Amino acid sequence: MPNPSSEKILPKGLTSQEALDRFERFGPNELSSQKTTFWKLILSVVSEPMLSLLILCGILYAVLGNLEEAGMLSVAVIAVISITIYQNNKSQNALSSLKELAPLKARIIRDGKIKILPSREVVPGDVVILQEGDRISADGFLTFSLNLNVDESLLTGESASIQKEAEPPSEKNMQNPANTNSFVFAGSTVVAGEAVFQVAATGDSTEIGKIGKELQTISQSPSPLQTEIKRFTIAFSLFAGVLCLFLIVGLGLRHGRWLEAFLAGLTFSMAVLPEEIPVVLSVFFSLGAWRISKIGVLTKNLSAIETLGAATVLCVDKTGTLTENNMKVRGLYCEGEFLQCDSKLLEIPERFHSLLEFALLASKKDPYDPMEKAIRELGVTFLSGTEHIHEWELKKEYPLSSKLMALSYAWSSRENEEVLQIGAKGAPEAIFDLCHFSKELLNEWENVVERYSSQGFRILGVAKSKVKTRGVPDDQHDLTFDFLGLILLEDPIRESVPASVLECKRAGIKVVMITGDHAGTAKSIAKQIGFDSCETVLSGDELEALTEDELAFRLDQVRIFCRIRPHQKLKIVRGFQSKGETVAMTGDGVNDTLALHASHIGISMGKRGTDVAREASDLVLLDDNFSSIVKAVMLGRRIYENIQKSVSYIISVHIPIIGMSLLPVFTGDPLYFFPAHILLMELIIDPACTLVFEGVDAEKRIYASPPRRGKESLMSFQNASLSLLRGGLILLVLIGVSFWGKHEHWTFEKIRSVAFLCLVSSNLGMILTHLSKDLPFYRVLSRSNTILYWISGLTILILILIFHVDLFTHLFGFERIRLVDVVSSVSIGLIVSLVWESKKIKDSFYLRIRTAS
Ligand code: ADP
Ligand code: MG
Repeated sequence: MPNPSSEKILPKGLTSQEALDRFERFGPNELSSQKTTFWKLILSVVSEPMLSLLILCGILYAVLGNLEEAGMLSVAVIAVISITIYQNNKSQNALSSLKELAPLKARIIRDGKIKILPSREVVPGDVVILQEGDRISADGFLTFSLNLNVDESLLTGESASIQKEAEPPSEKNMQNPANTNSFVFAGSTVVAGEAVFQVAATGDSTEIGKIGKELQTISQSPSPLQTEIKRFTIAFSLFAGVLCLFLIVGLGLRHGRWLEAFLAGLTFSMAVLPEEIPVVLSVFFSLGAWRISKIGVLTKNLSAIETLGAATVLCVDKTGTLTENNMKVRGLYCEGEFLQCDSKLLEIPERFHSLLEFALLASKKDPYDPMEKAIRELGVTFLSGTEHIHEWELKKEYPLSSKLMALSYAWSSRENEEVLQIGAKGAPEAIFDLCHFSKELLNEWENVVERYSSQGFRILGVAKSKVKTRGVPDDQHDLTFDFLGLILLEDPIRESVPASVLECKRAGIKVVMITGDHAGTAKSIAKQIGFDSCETVLSGDELEALTEDELAFRLDQVRIFCRIRPHQKLKIVRGFQSKGETVAMTGDGVNDTLALHASHIGISMGKRGTDVAREASDLVLLDDNFSSIVKAVMLGRRIYENIQKSVSYIISVHIPIIGMSLLPVFTGDPLYFFPAHILLMELIIDPACTLVFEGVDAEKRIYASPPRRGKESLMSFQNASLSLLRGGLILLVLIGVSFWGKHEHWTFEKIRSVAFLCLVSSNLGMILTHLSKDLPFYRVLSRSNTILYWISGLTILILILIFHVDLFTHLFGFERIRLVDVVSSVSIGLIVSLVWESKKIKDSFYLRIRTAS
């Protein structure tokens, strides 16, 4: 059977120059995305309920002839739009920078050589090689295929995979090539087999381009949190609507000035609508994705960011994630003798030659697999120039399968074309099985394997066979093998892994190792990286035999799964999930997609993973390193906690605004706040709740406490009551101020001025006190970002302006008050919002004493 990498099948492909010309003519192979225009963005911002209310107010004022107020509202509208666009841009830039991190690649033949290029560089006429797990980058004709199965569900919606085959060009299939079975489409994926195709169409000219679907998107499907928040927002808006009606009717009935009452109602709804909360989520998620990308993890599904911090179980592949997947041959074993292979090795004794020779024949000529690379390196170093190195032609491949972890290659030699020489290598048990070992022999060899695997070596068995060229069987088992010996390989542990395992232990996260390797090897690696329970292992066969209940019981102790075939990962994921765990799972192959989909957080590999696995996953690990997963989980915790802080801040600051808006209904006072006041508050609240809280550093506690439970809601009863209490206290003080003012016979303008200064300063105080749950604000101030300083500075500046320019003082319904009044109202505001700091100050004081003694 032909092999796509042998020269016969491979056409020469385009030259670089031809490709360049065509690239200029046809453009890049990407779909022109529908970019949101500036005006579209403005439209979407303006149609937000808050802004439409604002505009409505402005128009009403203008109609009423109050042009000053109307003018000021227009300025405010522009300010709010600018902030929104700034936030929006920041999120969008964060997301688009993610896309560039892991561009799709294609294996193209250019200048007669195989090159791996970004798929946007594919041009019509290019020759592209396909392998299992690839995403097809363009439309084209197959020129070669071997058992090719593709999934065209993105195009057709049909999820069953389709077999495709290269056909010689005929008149029939040239007329309507896209209808033949030898045409492949951009956007479909290779489920099995390999193929070569010649590109017919790229970019927007492809079938998928005509439909206009994006290939590489970042999924923005709403997360559970977003859905919960959405429901909350709707419920709250209804509630606000009812209150608003109450306010309009109440005020109208009180003094009969219905227009004023209506304006008050509009102002009130502006104050109350919780429109910040959904914005908080989307900003936190997209900026979170950008933060996570900086530690080498690409977010494909934004809602994963929410779940990430709640992960309780990390199921990770051993090879490549915990270890470097950089194999070295460390020893050879045959005829009861062990040969250590290290830097001191000068030559390999004759006895081991045929072991190495057939290990080489059981590897590709130009291997990709790290084990085969290691074998090749040893072979080339020590056997070059001997009769053990062959330039033969590969005739048949028996690939590794989920039934048998061994592979064989059959080669035809130049000297004797009648007979094929076969090299086999694989898991020792699989090779023993192929060699039909007797009971005693099996026992003896199993002991040897046990001895070396417990030292952490990965062990391969090697066997040889030969067969008549005419009678090549389809099944590996139908060959007769002679056993040759064992090869011991070492795969170094990634340096940062033991520390990360320890970090997980402190943070209450279970780490589970999943590997196709031998139990002994897995145990030894687990011990080296600091697993707690290294003795109990569960093998794929045992796993298969367990019922769900038995599995649930075993999952309490087992942290190592060995000899696992990819399809068995799904059972492990489901098992942990049925125990209420939040599971993150890594995977790289086509067979891992089910498990990646099923897990709460599917993680694929950026380096060695297939396109298919990457698409099934929520996160892509760009450096394949376990430590990055742990860092991402910790970032997830931080992001979640900051969302919590932000939301409880939003609730707290709205209570006094709502209360003071309603107060006139009960007291018969004029309105305390106009739209302008509310707006000024929003100009502080909006950037604070997104940009300030988004940038707050993680608290130390999150590294040492167990994960939150998956079902826990964002606002626990305790948190919500605390927020209400904090806001309620401010409201009480404001009401107190107003009564005191009346008692002292202040003008209402003075009362309003004092109350507003109080409100603004308490708002700033609220930001400070929400920065940290554990530490007093002055200890975290330096760890938060500069936006807080900007907000405070601008607020002070605006207030000075308002109180110094008569026009503004008048517009805001204020009066110029004495400095002592300013100072005392600001101090009252700060004190009321910062009383909550006292507990933190006390705690941190005791903590210092304790750590000092
Ligand atoms: P892991 O989960 O550690 O990556 P794999 O599933 O890739 O393990 O491999 C499982 C076993 O299959 C290996 O321990 C080895 O015995 C066998 N195996 C894997 N790749 C090859 C190969 N290229 N040649 C021979 N045997 C292999
Ligand atoms: Mg592997």
